[in-house]
Amino acid sequence: MFARIPKTAKQVTLALALIVGLLPLPQHAEEITKIELPDMGDSSGTLMTPEEEKAFGEAFFRSLHSQIVINQDAEIQQYIQTLGQKLAINSDVPGHPFHFFVVLENDINAFAGPGGYIGVNSGLMLMTEAESELASVIAHEIGHVTQRHLFRAAEAAGRLSIPTMAATLAAILLGTQSPAMGQAAIMAIQAGSVQFQINFTRENEEEADRVGMQTLANSQFDPRSMPTFFERLQQSTRYYGQNIPEFLRTHPVTASRISDTRGRAETYPYKQYPDSFSYQLTKAKIRALTSTNDAETAKYFQSRLNQGTDDQRVVARYGVGLVALKAQQFNDAEVLFQQLTKAFPNQAHFASALARTALDSRDYSTALNRYKKLMDIYPENEAIKLEFVGCLLKVNKPEQAKETLMSLSPNSQKTPIYWEMLAHIYSALNQPAESHRYLAEYYYASGQTQEAILQIKLAQKSKGLNFFVSSILNERLNFFLTQEQEERRNR
Ligand SMILES: [Zn+2]
Repeated sequence: MFARIPKTAKQVTLALALIVGLLPLPQHAEEITKIELPDMGDSSGTLMTPEEEKAFGEAFFRSLHSQIVINQDAEIQQYIQTLGQKLAINSDVPGHPFHFFVVLENDINAFAGPGGYIGVNSGLMLMTEAESELASVIAHEIGHVTQRHLFRAAEAAGRLSIPTMAATLAAILLGTQSPAMGQAAIMAIQAGSVQFQINFTRENEEEADRVGMQTLANSQFDPRSMPTFFERLQQSTRYYGQNIPEFLRTHPVTASRISDTRGRAETYPYKQYPDSFSYQLTKAKIRALTSTNDAETAKYFQSRLNQGTDDQRVVARYGVGLVALKAQQFNDAEVLFQQLTKAFPNQAHFASALARTALDSRDYSTALNRYKKLMDIYPENEAIKLEFVGCLLKVNKPEQAKETLMSLSPNSQKTPIYWEMLAHIYSALNQPAESHRYLAEYYYASGQTQEAILQIKLAQKSKGLNFFVSSILNERLNFFLTQEQEERRNR
């Protein structure tokens, strides 16, 4: 049922039509013809149900965890999710589900997977010189999703299981390889087989630029940032030689594309678009967090203490403090964050860094007081809630930790860090079966199904299991075993 299209078309050969839409769609059908998608032979016009797409997206995200480092810092996550959602609701398909996250990799990359999972590498974030540039990349990726470009992505014969497919797709987008992809897929990628390329076509890129720019403008970001950033990306390639950034492999930037984008941007009235303070603080945090040479990074921030705008000087001070905290120079960090908190009493980043300093230096009573105060001021701030939970565990207050964790919004629940904390909480509550059970969920969400199975088996060995817990454990074990079988298929 998967028809081949000629290889000369330089398209992904077999489409699995991964994303289907929430919008069913005459104009979609037309789109498919235009980009030479093979006929999927589905009379309903949809290629995957929304449930299947959701499952595929989740498998894709789990698979990513086993291939790359996904950011776990709640403040950074909060920033990217807020920025992404602001763009998503102003996109051409505002109801589409999206999940935004940061990948801690220096390589310049951003990608969109099935189910609306959009990742941005820390390297790309640091390369942006304005928030609108970062927004333009995300808006472009959103465009690929809403225009359903991805879903000509690939697998050899429509025989691959969803986990294998998800892992393969992840590997293609990341330019990495994973054992979970399956031998055939690895060989095909190594051979540079056309079947396994996802280079978007020129038409796809133009379309994603066009709808992306509309999204950008609707969201009050600078449309001119798009050509500016793509130009910088293209110019940067001369330093990379053979190792061009993955982003440019999957999204070829050409001179004509840049000039088209620039032409379109010029139709918008010129005005100033100041960066949000959160953007600047998040960039500083990412720079400190991902740095492999703290002394160099400290110098970078120190040299900026007396440069630029008032905001930039404050951000440099914050950066110096973060590097000191990372290097466990707690006294230095304490002084800097005290000063910043006094000068900016309404800036959660600074008060949170101050609380973190007490926590990391094991001054737990000070840390607890600082987090309590933060919770009073920002009761809905989920990043602070997660930090608070960590602190409550340190001071052995698992009941309160559990209550706080449970109050997170559904979006922030069921992530690896959520499961991990829940496992810690149950361990502190002396409930080993529950602890193993949630550790199993943590491993499963992190793409390690075999570890998940092991944890369930450990949970089943716990003494005094009641009927309710036993049946949940049995159910989860069966589920993980089925998943594992799926993952093994075609490997
Ligand atoms: Zn693109």
